[in-house]
Amino acid sequence: MNVEPKKKIVKEIKVNLDKCIGCRACEMACSGFHAVPKFSSTNPARSRIRVIVEDRKDVYLPVRAGDYTSAECTGRNTYTIHGKEYSQCSFCTVSCPSRDLFKEPDSDLPLKCDMCESVPPLPEPMCVQVCRCDALTYVEKEEAVVAEEVKRDEIDMGLEALVSKHGINKVVDTVTKLSKTLKR
Ligand code: SF4
Ligand code: SF4
Ligand code: SF4
Repeated sequence: MNVEPKKKIVKEIKVNLDKCIGCRACEMACSGFHAVPKFSSTNPARSRIRVIVEDRKDVYLPVRAGDYTSAECTGRNTYTIHGKEYSQCSFCTVSCPSRDLFKEPDSDLPLKCDMCESVPPLPEPMCVQVCRCDALTYVEKEEAVVAEEVKRDEIDMGLEALVSKHGINKVVDTVTKLSKTLKR
């Protein structure tokens, strides 16, 4: 029997560096959208997208916040693309100790792009909507889910069903007892 592979929607923002003019509208829109209440303030330091600017080299490079790392990497590369030089950090999405980007200025907690997922969903993320130069383009792709993700989804669904039937405390107690038994 042929089983159709499970599919997921992968969201992507394509960046065209040749079109970016460094206007930073994307930073303002992102910080406004994530302010509480929404659009009550705009502060690029709280934005999950930052534009790396080197005016003299005519370099404008929008980069979105990814994961947090407690250690910076070593042996960084320098890239030359169409005669312009970029450091590896300019492309890097992580919140890392080597720079202040992607850290919430009041708490120092790492910021991460959430693709503006909200209810109801936006037709396009805010940074894409305000980019008048089309340097940012939103794309949705359908991809097959790998076996590990399917298993994780099944475990999540199973746990959710157990929690709704027996309550979170009972489930946590049982898992704790079980893990002690298995360690023996
Ligand atoms: S809004 Fe578009 S053109 Fe302006 S800085 Fe952001 S990516 Fe670049
Ligand atoms: S920001 Fe630079 S130093 Fe930090 S992890 Fe990225 S590439 Fe490495
Ligand atoms: S997709 Fe949304 S959260 Fe991510 S950088 Fe753009 S505006 Fe910010």
